[in-house]
Amino acid sequence: MKTYSDTGSNSTIRERLGLRPIINVSGTMTTLGASIIVPEAISAMAEIASQWVEMDDLQRAASAVIARLTGGEAGFITACCASGITMAVAGAMTGTNLLAIERLPDDTEGLKSEVVIQLGHIVNYGAPIDQSIRVAGARVIPAGTVSVTQDYHVREAINERTAAALYVVAHHTVQYGMLSLEEFCEICHAKNIPVIVDAASEYDLRSFLARGADIVVYSGHKFLSGPTSGIVTGRKDLVRAAYLQNRGVARAMKVGKESVAGTMAALDAWEKRDHAGIRRREEAALNLWKDALQGIPGIGAQIIPDPTNNPLDRLQIFVRPESRFTAAGLASALAAASPPIIVRNHEVERGHFFLDPCNLHPGEAEIVAGQLRAMLTAKDRPSDAMKVARKDSSGALRWPD
Ligand SMILES: *Cc1c(COP(=O)(O)O)cnc(C)c1O
Repeated sequence: MKTYSDTGSNSTIRERLGLRPIINVSGTMTTLGASIIVPEAISAMAEIASQWVEMDDLQRAASAVIARLTGGEAGFITACCASGITMAVAGAMTGTNLLAIERLPDDTEGLKSEVVIQLGHIVNYGAPIDQSIRVAGARVIPAGTVSVTQDYHVREAINERTAAALYVVAHHTVQYGMLSLEEFCEICHAKNIPVIVDAASEYDLRSFLARGADIVVYSGHKFLSGPTSGIVTGRKDLVRAAYLQNRGVARAMKVGKESVAGTMAALDAWEKRDHAGIRRREEAALNLWKDALQGIPGIGAQIIPDPTNNPLDRLQIFVRPESRFTAAGLASALAAASPPIIVRNHEVERGHFFLDPCNLHPGEAEIVAGQLRAMLTAKDRPSDAMKVARKDSSGALRWPD
């Protein structure tokens, strides 16, 4: 088995399991293990692991923590944000009708079962968001076009079968021509339709409810650095109806006591976290990388703010042919390096990628800077240095081989 030098993080278990000691400069990615879990959450998970607990009481305690941090009337922890979306949708369909909850997803007779979403919000975060709606048994009603949604698109999409409307806050969505959350809520509320907000990857735990959302879903394992989990918060009747889906479709999305306790601890830690100090360390990494790229032919770099206004910057690296790399070629060379460096590559076909500084262990920023510079100043190029970006699922289809 190939061996790798220790990169400053705990590589022991990775070595034991034969896993590559990757450095993650791509963001909080499900495919890379979601997050570096904060120590407070790790201790809470370890502490509760061997104890019996009454799950409804544990979730009641979680509800209080979530309400305190988000301003919602109530909340609960679920398996992930995607399951929270399904549960919120199902709850809007069934209310507290326990029999209807057991009848989902295929038997929706007598229930409101349509969910309106702007077409430019139908994103893919590893799976298509419309599937999280359909899993509940609801029908997806897209409103508007990929580049423009007008108020009448949403207004006319609502009818007597509409159960809810879903609004997505993410860099994945079309970033222009869409309705604002306020406009969307105004149209939906005029017709008594609850608005569910997918804020999976947002720092701001309060503003979406404050701006009119009825129920908001976050990932517990993105910026919060909790265990893999989702957080649902908002209007008590909707939250209760969503929670009751644990007796129905959400049974297949079961969250364990360790994730509930871990996420509660991560929420507590978030309140006390030294956000300014973290931001200073992130800025230092960005400047280090930008400096390392100075004067390299065909390479440009600029620090850019997060597209949805999270307090986070990234380094955008432009890769032009004079560098004898394409953006896709350089990204895959870095991923094949020792240690492997995984960059934020979802826009490589446009000739650039990003470095995200928010998931670094001590010492890793320097390794990334050194590796980038070494690769770009080397005499030779790997064989696929000029490769054209292409989404390729052939590897996935061979798993587990
Ligand atoms: C990550 C993400 C999700 C999925 O969140 P999970 O907690 O991984 O299920 C949903 N929506 C958006 C916008 C995301 O960024």
